[in-house]
Amino acid sequence: MEIKVLKDILGANDQMAQSNQQLLDGNHVFAVNLMASPGAGKTSLVLETIKGLQGKVRIGVIEGDISSTFDSELIAQQGVPVVQINTGGECHLDASMIRNALENLPLTDIDLLLVENVGNLVCPAEFNLGEHRKIVVSSVPEGDDKPIKYPAMFIIANAVVLNKTDLLPYVKFDSDRFREAVREINRKLDIFEVSCTTGEGIERWTSWLLAEMGRK
Ligand code: MG
Ligand code: ZN
Repeated sequence: MEIKVLKDILGANDQMAQSNQQLLDGNHVFAVNLMASPGAGKTSLVLETIKGLQGKVRIGVIEGDISSTFDSELIAQQGVPVVQINTGGECHLDASMIRNALENLPLTDIDLLLVENVGNLVCPAEFNLGEHRKIVVSSVPEGDDKPIKYPAMFIIANAVVLNKTDLLPYVKFDSDRFREAVREINRKLDIFEVSCTTGEGIERWTSWLLAEMGRK
């Protein structure tokens, strides 16, 4: 019985996600869903991506948090249109929250929409938003075992960003072990090693984004 209820919820979410993608496509917006545990550096990656793509594409942002507007204030300072979703306890974004946000964004002025999901490495994987690509952001201090412990997110992702590589000399983290774990779960995943502190690796990541936008 409970399983059926859950299926209905996810079914309704998928329908709304499909409708979101139609709205995005109609406005020529390419949407990327950034998922990670709290503190992996999603907001920093959004900020570095904005910097890296300045003058190349017009970016918009949806910020998902359980509460607060800290992150969206940082984004707004860059002069980028941003909508903050406060889920009020929900630990993930769903398609109807995104729909609401889309209706409050100037979609015709946006080429690339970055959606920062709520910090959580589990259930955001279950909710399609209507995005074109799903990205897992992992970070060095979290440890190289995250793909093994939280495989669901890596199974559905299109790419992995490994952030905070500037901390590699100070933290026990085996890059090869991480890569191997990712490949074992999902062979097709591109892995981008970046540091949002030093800017290292960001260009490779933004080039990939541009290529994916062209491929859509
Ligand atoms: Mg954030
Ligand atoms: Zn959740």
